[in-house]
Parts: sequence; structure tokens; C-alpha cells
Amino acid sequence: MTVPKAIAAAVRLVVDSAFPEHCLLCGGVLEPGHMRVASVCPDCSAAISPLSGRRCAVCSLPLVSEEDICTRCRVRRFAFDRHVSLFEYRGDVRELLYYYKFKGRERLAIFFAGFLARELEGSAPESVVVPVPSRPRTVRARGCAAVELLARRCAGLAGLAFTACLARGKGVSQKTLDYETRLANLAGRIAPLPAAARLAGENVYLVDDIFTTGATAHECALVLKKAGAASVTVLTVAMEA
Ligand SMILES: [Zn+2]
Ligand SMILES: [Zn+2]
Repeated sequence: MTVPKAIAAAVRLVVDSAFPEHCLLCGGVLEPGHMRVASVCPDCSAAISPLSGRRCAVCSLPLVSEEDICTRCRVRRFAFDRHVSLFEYRGDVRELLYYYKFKGRERLAIFFAGFLARELEGSAPESVVVPVPSRPRTVRARGCAAVELLARRCAGLAGLAFTACLARGKGVSQKTLDYETRLANLAGRIAPLPAAARLAGENVYLVDDIFTTGATAHECALVLKKAGAASVTVLTVAMEA
């Protein structure tokens, strides 16, 4: 027997009112309607400021000269065409990503995906969203692939196709490594799954949570281009800059 929608909604309202949830940032009580969408109140959400200033046309690093491309991108060519990030990896954003990845606050996927999907407005309808694959050990430890969920929600909101078509082999954690060591650590560890065949000729949006040196995005983009992707745009929630 299925419960009629109106009754289910009424029960949910009573439960939500009896057990109020609080904004992860300011601690304020969330409105029952709002807490289903995000764990952040509208005021805190509006206060998170997007990346600003002049940025490199390729990797989004802040620019210090009059050139459109940063010094790093002038000497090193990334395999992706462009990287777009939403926020700087600090303050409230850093805290929320921590809640999302390490404290099981899965609803934040919708919160961040909302911002990411806005970047996809106007993209070709055949474009495909692909998540950067997590290390198998990370997925086992946390019970879910945080980046995959984020990318899936983002594709859903943008009305684009989603495919988790990259696999990642074992490797040491990259957190403390520099670009060159990361590249060596990643070499041959990102591999295409059969689903990557559908990428031929398409524009791909490669989603990740944080952009640090660009080594992971570069390795994934190499594989995606080899699979026939016409373009690869990297889309991340935050970047270290
Ligand atoms: Zn708040
Ligand atoms: Zn650059």
C-alpha cells in the first residue's frame, strides 16, 4: 500500500518541526522546506562569495600580469581545455566540503551541484558529465564516492547525460605531493571503462571537488581525449589559489 503524497508531506512537516535541523555554518534553525534541499541557511548560502578577479583562461589561477594565460600554463600544457572553479578552498567552503566528504552530509551534494549546474547553462545538450574517479580505498572507507554523487546531481540539475566512465587504480594519497610527483603517481592509474565509448565527439564536463595542482584533472583529460572527447572542461567546487 502506498501512502498518499499529501499525507506523506504532512507527516514530514510534523517530523521536521519536531526535530529541527540547524545550518552547518551559523547554527540557525533551518526552515522545514529548506532543510530538504541543503544544510545551509539562505543567508549563509548567499554570503559565500564566488571566485573573483582576473584569472587564467585555462586553469583559473589568479593572474599577476597583463597576459590572459598564467606563467604555469605558458610552459606546461594541460590535456583539458579549460578549468572553471566556483570558490576558493578556504573558510566556509572548506568547512562545508569537510562536512560533505568526511561527516556524511550527503545532502550538500545538492547544495554544491546547484552552483555547478549554473556553470553548465547554455552548454550543448549532448554534453556529458563525468566524475573524477575516487581511489577505491577512499570509497570503501567512506561508503560512497563523494565526487560521483556530486557529478550525478550536477548532471541531473543541468539536464545532461552522466557517466562514471573512468576507473582509478591503487596509488598513494596525493594530498602532500607536488605536481610532478602526482603525475608520476597517477601514470597509467586512470583507465577508461567501456562506457567511455559514448564520449566520441562530445563535449565533456569533468567534475571534481577540489583543484590543487591540476595533475589528476590532466590525467583524466588525457584518457577522455583518447576516448574521443571533443573537449574537456574541468568543473570544480573549489581551488587552492
Ligand atoms: Zn546559516
Ligand atoms: Zn593557468
